[in-house]
Amino acid sequence: MSLIVQKYGGTSVGSAERIRAVADRVAQTVRAGNQVVVVLSAMAGETDSLVSLARELGGDAPDPREYDALVSTGEQKSAALLTMALQRIGQPAQSLSGSQVGLRTDASHARARILAVDAEPLTELLGSGTVAVVTGFQGVGPSGDVTTLGRGGSDTTAVAIAAAIRADACEIYTDVDGVFTADPRVVPNARKLARVAYEEMLEMASLGAKVLQIRSVKFAMNYSVPLHVRSSFHDGEGTWVVREEDVMERLVVSGVTFNAKEAKIRVRGVKDQPGIAARIFTPLSEAEIVVDMILQNYAQDGTTDVTFTVPVGDYPRALKIAQEVGSEIGAADVEGDEAIAKVSVVGLGMKDHAGVASRMFRVLADEGVNIHLIATSEIKISVVIDERHTGEAVRALHEAFVDSGAKEPVEES
Ligand code: ADP
Ligand code: ASP
Ligand code: MG
Repeated sequence: MSLIVQKYGGTSVGSAERIRAVADRVAQTVRAGNQVVVVLSAMAGETDSLVSLARELGGDAPDPREYDALVSTGEQKSAALLTMALQRIGQPAQSLSGSQVGLRTDASHARARILAVDAEPLTELLGSGTVAVVTGFQGVGPSGDVTTLGRGGSDTTAVAIAAAIRADACEIYTDVDGVFTADPRVVPNARKLARVAYEEMLEMASLGAKVLQIRSVKFAMNYSVPLHVRSSFHDGEGTWVVREEDVMERLVVSGVTFNAKEAKIRVRGVKDQPGIAARIFTPLSEAEIVVDMILQNYAQDGTTDVTFTVPVGDYPRALKIAQEVGSEIGAADVEGDEAIAKVSVVGLGMKDHAGVASRMFRVLADEGVNIHLIATSEIKISVVIDERHTGEAVRALHEAFVDSGAKEPVEES
């Protein structure tokens, strides 16, 4: 007998018919002799509409406590509905909210971090042959208020629960067949990876592959939870996210990702002297704005330009701060651009292969795509380009690195 956590995403519970199909799969898993905890997202589109209602009535910055009280309701609904569907086919089941499973978080509404999960209520239910249906995305903060874990957070709920009850596997059911070498909606011939290492998946998730929330991958890596990302539409094998040593096929590039949700700010003509970077970035960090890429140009005539990227949601605030600091430090001007995208190639194989960066730049140059910023780490290379070139850049990089002999060494050309 295995202990399995199954998480179903929004599309997988998007209608009464889909919920019935999920109930059948859960019941079948139990009949096969397993104990099952189900973690659910809200029905497709539900969280988006709750978020826009919150904006309509609460303005740009609705009260965080009330925002979470509202957006967490989507999961209450789907969990209760699936429980009813299970009971109707003779499978005992009970729905549980974040607070009922003791999923305790910190107090940061809308992006709360999980502190602890209480395994006991779940183990008790499972012991009595009941399926536990847990609301994803929500927890309970220090003062007893409902908190939410950030968009896509049900993945993290599932992995945290799997870690707490020491599940044998955590299955993430979604609307694609697994983790692909690129978003299959953008690259039609992207292929499914049989296995991907936690480290690669972490980079892919943080660089735009929204198939798993970043924190869920961190959790899985830290607690060695075997993750299986698979389709809720059929029974085929999906992608296993595993330890590096368990990946059979080491690709130079395992994934090409993009993120169009960043914006770029350039502070031009600042004095090339100690302390300038601190003057620019301290107020941004005080405002809790996470700066991603930073580039300081080579100084000419004693002045230099500092360019950086921020999440597009923080762009108006970040631009305002940069303009204020810019005038204090005598910058020539401050300009911003929202129409940018970050395109990245990710792969553990890059550790052993030189020449990936130069080949990436060549491919983009051949496509006529101008590169604004570059960032590299051991297993990824990211570039910032104009947003309008995103699709063609991703497809060209996929063709160069994945379609044509991804396992071959990539040499300087
Ligand atoms: P769910 O509602 O099941 O949580 P999401 O919409 O959050 O599903 O994530 C699944 C989506 O992630 C897919 O429909 C796909 O478009 C997108 N995606 C982006 N990059 C990738 C990738 N590399 N592999 C698979 N899916 C990806
Ligand atoms: N329903 C939440 C969202 O849409 C959480 C999730 O689906 O994972 O972001
Ligand atoms: Mg998701």
